[in-house]
Amino acid sequence: MRHNGRASADHDRRRFLRLGAGVVATGAFALLGGSPARSAVPRRALAFHNLHTGESLDVTYWADSRPIPDALAEVDHILRDFRTGEIHPIDLRLLNLLHRVQHALDTTEPFQIISGYRSPATNRKLANGSSGVARRSLHMQGMAIDVRVPGRSLKALHRAAVAQKSGGVGMYPKSDFVHMDTGRVRYW
Ligand SMILES: [Zn+2]
Repeated sequence: MRHNGRASADHDRRRFLRLGAGVVATGAFALLGGSPARSAVPRRALAFHNLHTGESLDVTYWADSRPIPDALAEVDHILRDFRTGEIHPIDLRLLNLLHRVQHALDTTEPFQIISGYRSPATNRKLANGSSGVARRSLHMQGMAIDVRVPGRSLKALHRAAVAQKSGGVGMYPKSDFVHMDTGRVRYW
């Protein structure tokens, strides 16, 4: 009786261990968000200098595999329509694009902001005065930014942005900036 009982218990324990290992592995996988490498993703930071308002921002906007709402609010603020004061959420994909470009350029210099969010009124005014401003600009959706980077040429900035293959990239040598957006992939 006793012997049989132990054999049966051992058998059950082995089954449990086998099942258990599977459950633990699945659980850990789920905790890590489906990919063990995810937990090792470092923080993402961005530095900006707004040339119109003189404001600077150096902020970690992503940590522990998720965006940081307070940091995003600060980014939205520095990228607001400085003409009207209107704030619009900036597309997180645009921030990730900037972050990758910053990394590719191997610089910690801030992005100098020429233009971030544009209200429809501001965009209309600019479009009336310049053929280079699109009437249905992605700036009006918080999906575009015009920048330059101290110590890096426009060409280098343009090349780094194009290499990301994640949206539109345009060079404006006369105005000394590169436009990046998270719309269709296209270059000019
Ligand atoms: Zn632009």
